[in-house]
Amino acid sequence: MSKGLIVSISGPSGVGKGTVIARLREMFPDCKHSVSVTSRAPRGTERDGVEYYFRTKEEFEELIAKGEIIEYDQYVGNYYGTPLTPLLEMSGEGKNVLLDLTVPGSLALKEKFDDTVTIFLLPPSLSELRGRLSGRGTETEDLIEKRMAQAKGEIEKAGKFDYVVTNRTVEQAADEIAAIMKAENCRFKRSSDAVETLLAQ
Ligand code: 5GP
Repeated sequence: MSKGLIVSISGPSGVGKGTVIARLREMFPDCKHSVSVTSRAPRGTERDGVEYYFRTKEEFEELIAKGEIIEYDQYVGNYYGTPLTPLLEMSGEGKNVLLDLTVPGSLALKEKFDDTVTIFLLPPSLSELRGRLSGRGTETEDLIEKRMAQAKGEIEKAGKFDYVVTNRTVEQAADEIAAIMKAENCRFKRSSDAVETLLAQ
């Protein structure tokens, strides 16, 4: 069985990665979302094991030491990382896996698994991004400023990604990512079995 795609989506906090990923999972019910581990506190209605696995810094560092985290990053003072085993299992079962990672996280994952498809999600404008961060109502003004400063630095790295998608509407961004996934699945390296089967007839 051919492996599923590992698709890593990055972009500034507030750009709407979570919503776009949720829409993609509706479009492709078979698609899996890699649940990350974080040392940040849960926000609002977030539950352990659903949005994130919430762990202490010490527990997180233990997971790193045991080699159970394939990539990790620190963001606004907290750890965020991808658990290795579920990622390998889901992809090995032929499932497409979507990840929501920081910019260095996507680039580090691509270094480890060069088959990773990296997508940078851009906001239509910086003012719209600020509006989305304020609209959440969960972040202080100080945190919004920190996230805006970080956003500009991240956007400068968009050129290191395989694809760039602008999130004007969730529907359009999800459609574009769906098109990328379909095209990636048709790459020769992922379809060579079909060619070999035909030639063997
Ligand atoms: P938030 O606190 O808003 O949920 O997430 C903050 C940032 O952490 C987001 O940009 C998100 O993409 C990133 N993030 C979430 N999980 C991971 C992970 O496993 N690894 C990395 N590198 N970044 C992550």
